Amino acid sequence: MASRLWTRTISSAKRIVSNRLYSSVSIQQKESSDNSKERIFTQEHVQLRQSLQKIIEKDINPHVEQWEKEGIFPAHEVFKKLGDAGFLGVTKPTEYGGLGLDYTYSVAVAEELGNISCGGVPMAIGVQTDMATPALARFGSDALKKEFLAPSISGDYVACLGVSEVGSGSDVASIQTKAEKKGGDYIINGGKMWTTSGTQADWMCLLANTSDGPAHMNKSLFCLPMKLPGVTIAKKIGKMGMWSSDTAQIFLEDVRIPQSYLIGDEGMGFTYQMIQRRDFGDVQHRKVFGQPVLNNQTVHFTLAECMTEVELLRSLLYRAVDQYVRGNDVTKYASMCKLKGGRLAREIIDKCLQYWGGMGYTDEVLISRLYRDFRLVSIGAGADEVMLSIICKYMDILPKLPKSNK
Ligand SMILES: Cc1cc2nc3c(=O)[nH]c(=O)nc-3n(C[C@H](O)[C@H](O)[C@H](O)COP(=O)(O)OP(=O)(O)OC[C@H]3O[C@@H](n4cnc5c(N)ncnc54)[C@H](O)[C@@H]3O)c2cc1C
Repeated sequence: MASRLWTRTISSAKRIVSNRLYSSVSIQQKESSDNSKERIFTQEHVQLRQSLQKIIEKDINPHVEQWEKEGIFPAHEVFKKLGDAGFLGVTKPTEYGGLGLDYTYSVAVAEELGNISCGGVPMAIGVQTDMATPALARFGSDALKKEFLAPSISGDYVACLGVSEVGSGSDVASIQTKAEKKGGDYIINGGKMWTTSGTQADWMCLLANTSDGPAHMNKSLFCLPMKLPGVTIAKKIGKMGMWSSDTAQIFLEDVRIPQSYLIGDEGMGFTYQMIQRRDFGDVQHRKVFGQPVLNNQTVHFTLAECMTEVELLRSLLYRAVDQYVRGNDVTKYASMCKLKGGRLAREIIDKCLQYWGGMGYTDEVLISRLYRDFRLVSIGAGADEVMLSIICKYMDILPKLPKSNK
């Protein structure tokens, strides 16, 4: 699951640095954007992308400006359109309304989502498809999948993910929220922080402690309906970027759910959750000292360097996806992609913003939104340092702690 999640996140990072960079210099990079030439993609992938492109152009991008101002996008409305076209269940089982395709199709979809003119909407879509629902699809009972997964795939339900808490983000093992058995139910107490789509979600994929045992074996995942008594949206968090996406702090007080809302086995929650062209830059047309900014060697060389980095990352991503769909563990490569994707997103957007001059610092151009939105990639869903720790672990170079400190 984590590898899926990471691959999705890198895709986000990669898409901005690829799609947006191409457009920022108004260069038609036909060769690179023709995905049918990539080993992992076929004509079907290209067709899937084209039908998503139509939805983005018609039903999403024309409204982004308004959603950014309002600090929220209408997830039910947008998800219904995406769900009707199959985009919320690309890899999900067909019995529950999914398309049952392999993960290469998810990557194609994630790349196309990069054409949405903000980070918040694709992030919320990613939470729905790659963070809140994979464990349910894989380990949930048939009844639970009918109740929560099927409507999340069709776009009738909006899902959110309740893992992070105040003081427990990177260190997921330290969460405090508890689910205690009482009669035939679980009673849940605690709270969740940073919950994407939290103010409008129908249900939460909740991680809570179900015993006092070892931190990696005492957690369970649940489907938690958000309309139940005891669930309070404490606040909508104001953020530096990702304005179209609502982020909530949520309090849970004596919330009662039936035991059947447990996903898979008790104590396995941690394992389940963790395994797992727009013309905005126009450097070509903007003139300084009588010539286009792009004509300066330092500018076109910088863009060529950026593109080289993007293509290197793309190669690693496709290699990881290729291995993943053939059943291999790609945790190391996925962590490398997430790390590099976050860093490249920051670096490249920063460089592009520079060439905009003062306009790049205003709220009138897309590049400043991307600058704010994609700063998150190096923090959210596993900070850069967490990725580095995982890579070190796979390289077997992490310092060994003395037994008494373990
Ligand atoms: C806009 C937004 C949306 C989010 N959506 C969700 C959501 O839907 N559901 C959800 O559960 N969570 C969500 N999150 C939470 C997100 O995953 C956490 O913010 C992230 O995991 C980091 O946790 P933290 O904020 O508690 O920072 P901390 O864990 O306190 O870390 C702070 C910093 O310490 C450093 N650090 C961390 N670990 C190490 C280490 N091992 N070695 C060295 N340095 C380290 C890193 O630089 C890190 O940025 C969201 C966050 C944001 C900002």
